[in-house]
Amino acid sequence: MQPRRVAVLGGGPGGLYAARLLKLADPSCEVVVHEQGEPDTTFGFGVGLAAGTQRKLEAADPDTLRDLVAAGLRHDMTMQVGPHTTRVRNDRLIGIARTELLAVLQRHAEKAGVVLEFGTRVTAGELDADVVVAADGVSSATRENGPFGGRIEVGRGLYLWCGTDFALDDAVFAPVETEHGVFVTHAYPYSGGRSTFLVETDEETWRRAGFDASTQATKFDASDETSLRYLREVFAEQLRGHALIGNRTRWLRFRTVCCDRWSAGNTVLLGDAAHTAHFSIGSGTKLAMEDAIGLVEALRAEPDRDAAFARYEAVRRPAVERLQELARRSQLWWESFPARLHLPVERLMVAYMSRAGNVPLDRFAQTSPDVVGAALEQYAGEPADVAPEGITSWVLDHPPARHRAADLVPLRAALDDPWSAAGDALVAQARGTAGVRLTGPPDRPALLTRLDLAERIGLEAGVPTAVEGPAALRDDLAAGLVSGRTDRVVLTDVQETP
Ligand SMILES: Cc1cc2nc3c(=O)[nH]c(=O)nc-3n(C[C@H](O)[C@H](O)[C@H](O)COP(=O)(O)OP(=O)(O)OC[C@H]3O[C@@H](n4cnc5c(N)ncnc54)[C@H](O)[C@@H]3O)c2cc1C
Repeated sequence: MQPRRVAVLGGGPGGLYAARLLKLADPSCEVVVHEQGEPDTTFGFGVGLAAGTQRKLEAADPDTLRDLVAAGLRHDMTMQVGPHTTRVRNDRLIGIARTELLAVLQRHAEKAGVVLEFGTRVTAGELDADVVVAADGVSSATRENGPFGGRIEVGRGLYLWCGTDFALDDAVFAPVETEHGVFVTHAYPYSGGRSTFLVETDEETWRRAGFDASTQATKFDASDETSLRYLREVFAEQLRGHALIGNRTRWLRFRTVCCDRWSAGNTVLLGDAAHTAHFSIGSGTKLAMEDAIGLVEALRAEPDRDAAFARYEAVRRPAVERLQELARRSQLWWESFPARLHLPVERLMVAYMSRAGNVPLDRFAQTSPDVVGAALEQYAGEPADVAPEGITSWVLDHPPARHRAADLVPLRAALDDPWSAAGDALVAQARGTAGVRLTGPPDRPALLTRLDLAERIGLEAGVPTAVEGPAALRDDLAAGLVSGRTDRVVLTDVQETP
């Protein structure tokens, strides 16, 4: 399809990139971006762009990627628990200021001939065009007022997004215990003189610290200065005397957006307007920009609008849903993070890397042999002299000797969320037993959830656990052992129906 006129609603990364790619694909097409804000005002601080995203952007538009990489800052990753630290190398991960990201995308859009109109809030209905790309963000009015079947799931934990005026050496994950509970920061540098500080906590800690009141007292366009002052003290070591800077910063709960359909009539949703995924896998900007690539390819490939929108959704939805599932697991892991602070820092790093089930131990060992080696030794109580491809067998051959799986009470677990009411009931059943052996469906998502539930039972009911799973998923079972999710595993190829 060759649209003559395209209106893009929203000048965030998704809208700007789609506009540029549309114009590159067909210079005769008239493309206008309508952004309610001014060019140099935005929310937030830095965002991360991982290696895989950079490869996709390079294939779609090498000029823009070159400028993004030049404006970003590459960094490694450190986990810091009290005096203990461990470090992981990250070859191409960059942090980039959201202001810089948008400035580069605006510049490249204009260079391609896109018209940028700032300062007016518009609705999809009032835009006269063959195609309206609604890239109006997580609070998209187009989605909320349209027939897209939008749903929002609200997270349990609270987060606050702020920054500071110096560049950290690495990305840092640091939990700090206070009189109210644990606050954890994910902080990363994104320019020569700036870092993002994202802070998370649970609801009880948030209330005990009085932040329910400070959140309520903060006007919608102001920052919660009470929280920022308090957190400056909490993270004094990481901040090295610098202050935390707000930019309409307040405590929020993450909202995961899903939609039944991404298009209706001449309007198509893109980026956060169509879907979101928890920030702890750093993928919102990536998804928005990859949607833009997918939409422009679909418009080029199909003869008419409806077929192009259907192709866009058919290609992008599976990738988005896969990431949303990883993000959901990552979100649940972070929301229960304080319970794991007893783990040695290297085992905690392995638990972090395997939290969503997408980084196998052997792959992690190839890039960080020192971290995985230390974690294996902490797990088994003896050094592990083993190549990455032999790690799973080595772990399964070194079960902790504390108890026999056969002595444990079988407990069937078939649930999506270990911290749900169904999870509460299973924890209650495990209390007072000599330990439980978790059984359930043999598929991978069910096994990963079983491992997370076993961890919760171990922590809350204080009893030993074993997790059953098929031999085909032995890598996940081994990662579960080293991460401290379960004490034992039982390999079984018994096929159960879910
Ligand atoms: C705490 C936190 C941390 C994050 N960290 C990362 C990270 O590390 N890496 C990453 O990739 N992503 C991260 N993200 C997510 C990322 O910021 C978003 O996913 C990304 O900006 C989505 O791009 P978008 O273009 O879809 O929407 P947005 O960037 O939200 O842009 C939408 C635009 O539409 C405009 N708009 C809305 N309505 C109208 C209207 N009616 N008229 C005109 N204009 C309108 C808005 O002003 C806005 O500029 C994070 C998000 C949060 C909350």
